[in-house]
Amino acid sequence: MEAKIAPFRSPLGHVRSALRFGWSGFRYAAKLALDIALPTLCVACREPVDGEGVCAACWAKLSFIEPPYCPRLGIPFVYDPGPELLSMEAIANPPAYARARAAVRYDDVARSLVHALKYQDRTDLAPTMGRWMARAGRELLKDADVLIPVPLHWRRGWSRRYNQSGALARVIERHSGVRLATEALRRVRRTEQQIGLSRPQRASNVQGAFKVAPERNGDVAGRRIILIDDVLTSGATIDACARALLRAKAASVDVLVFARVVDSHKTPI
Ligand SMILES: [Zn+2]
Repeated sequence: MEAKIAPFRSPLGHVRSALRFGWSGFRYAAKLALDIALPTLCVACREPVDGEGVCAACWAKLSFIEPPYCPRLGIPFVYDPGPELLSMEAIANPPAYARARAAVRYDDVARSLVHALKYQDRTDLAPTMGRWMARAGRELLKDADVLIPVPLHWRRGWSRRYNQSGALARVIERHSGVRLATEALRRVRRTEQQIGLSRPQRASNVQGAFKVAPERNGDVAGRRIILIDDVLTSGATIDACARALLRAKAASVDVLVFARVVDSHKTPI
């Protein structure tokens, strides 16, 4: 009897975990089963691909952010306005953090990567995405003491199984040697999705949503911190996180994300 079911022990094991962990576990088990049967597909165009998640054609469509960019927000400039010149955005709405850097612009291929990592259990993408982030953030990483991922609310973390920002931060820790402190910052209030909200609504939605865990204050006070997230859009969430860290006496807060929204109509002053 035992010998008869042995070949199916592994899938059965996945089904058992699925029963233990509910629907997201079931999806995970189903995906594992599919991975055995199907070749990996490009996350953007669904063509079969070897290895890293995007095919060569889609990789070429990614816009890696290179200098010149705003030293504060990391928004790319179309021409070099000279050192120390800030973007209009940085002057009009100065963020709570000091500097932000992103690996790529948030366009169609970047969105596919972020969604696959976040919603489709494509944890295999994290090493590549994290490596690109470590490269984009090398200037910040050489000054940093601690990496802190933007936390999910525990309920959202549960349904998605893991925090994608934490997964990226672990890769960056390996590449940079900067220590990761996953539990230092907590989401203490559940927030609505930011999609569809105006800038002031986004800011008030995340107001007071984050807090440094008192027992983890040693990871924050006096430390030079880099907040890690997958996407930077309006910056309201990252700003609320930065303010919470600064209230807990962080020496400085920088931001490193995989992709940032870039409004191509805005030019430097
Ligand atoms: Zn592709």
